[in-house]
Amino acid sequence: MTKIDPHFADELKKYGAKDFDACFNCGNCSAVCSHSEKNVSFPRLTVRLGVLGLKKEILSSVEPWLCYSCGDCTETCPRQAGPGQYLAAVRRYAISEYEPTGLTKLMFKSPPAFVAVTMLVAVFLGFFLFTLKPEHEVARWIFNWLPYEVIHNMGLVIFSFTGLSMVWGVLSMSIRFNRNRKKDAKSTVGFFKALWMVLSEAGTMDRYKDCDAEEDSHWRGIAWYKQPWFVHWSIMWGFIGLLAATSIDFMFKDPASNILYPSRILGTMAGLLMIFGTSQAINYRWEKVTLIYSETSPADWTFLWFLWIAGITGFWLEVSVAFGANNIINQFVLLAHTVISMELVLLFAFSKFAHAFYRPLALFFHYRNQV
Ligand code: SF4
Ligand code: SF4
Repeated sequence: MTKIDPHFADELKKYGAKDFDACFNCGNCSAVCSHSEKNVSFPRLTVRLGVLGLKKEILSSVEPWLCYSCGDCTETCPRQAGPGQYLAAVRRYAISEYEPTGLTKLMFKSPPAFVAVTMLVAVFLGFFLFTLKPEHEVARWIFNWLPYEVIHNMGLVIFSFTGLSMVWGVLSMSIRFNRNRKKDAKSTVGFFKALWMVLSEAGTMDRYKDCDAEEDSHWRGIAWYKQPWFVHWSIMWGFIGLLAATSIDFMFKDPASNILYPSRILGTMAGLLMIFGTSQAINYRWEKVTLIYSETSPADWTFLWFLWIAGITGFWLEVSVAFGANNIINQFVLLAHTVISMELVLLFAFSKFAHAFYRPLALFFHYRNQV
């Protein structure tokens, strides 16, 4: 049964959607969007669902996840309804609905709560890291107050809490998307082919490239390495590369002082890529190069700055270790680097980071829905 929520538009505005209810359904946005397909008036239809308060339909639709926030639709909307920003807000709303604890909801809707949670986790992680050096004065003081086992178990509980929240969110999204699939329609794309298409999209960003190549796009004709698809590619693969390098380092215990070890070389290249991508993304938002970049949510800012700081502090440490510099500044840089990196991992289910799981899943369903 179709159920309308009369307060839905107000709710979406708390996630960053602006005047999307000013939409008069002209379809300009669909005409300019490279992802609008033969039978899908995208994003016009998704805007319509929001205006009508069709919450369930929005949550079971893959469409908000097919958008790459290029903003071409926003530039051409005659009502300044901001369809690009609206879709970003819908994704934030969807993440907070799929995730079961309510923490994402709190963090996305309230910037003060966002700051409070981030700071609290940072302080906890800072303490936790001191406990890894039991002979340290701070560690001794903490152990008097809280036994090591309690801190260790708290860490395990928090990591499990994040992991389980993510698994729950992904399952919740899958169940909704699955229910929404046309039962009688036979998909022309099999399970493994759809999986391959998702992986290949992650490698090539072909769909994102389509946005930047659009006739009316601000980015058309601009050098490829400055285009948003490449900026996104750099951040994503830079982060994955750093994660791989850290894991290899951890598993094989490569001596940290030699920058020519394979895991170090991988880490250096991945770090450079991520710093390049995040610097460009921050710069575009700072300079407000297009309309869509002029309205960045606190969650997006924090995510980008955290990645950038993790990259810069990582390089600082690599250079200091290579030159044998071990001083108090480096110890603080190490603390900042580890806290921010762990915070990114700890909060991934409740932050912008979660899109790294939800978008590929939505793309998978999108490919599987093809008949
Ligand atoms: S271009 Fe603007 S007014 Fe027209 S359908 Fe899209 S969002 Fe609505
Ligand atoms: S922001 Fe770009 S990709 Fe997203 S709906 Fe608008 S035109 Fe399409």
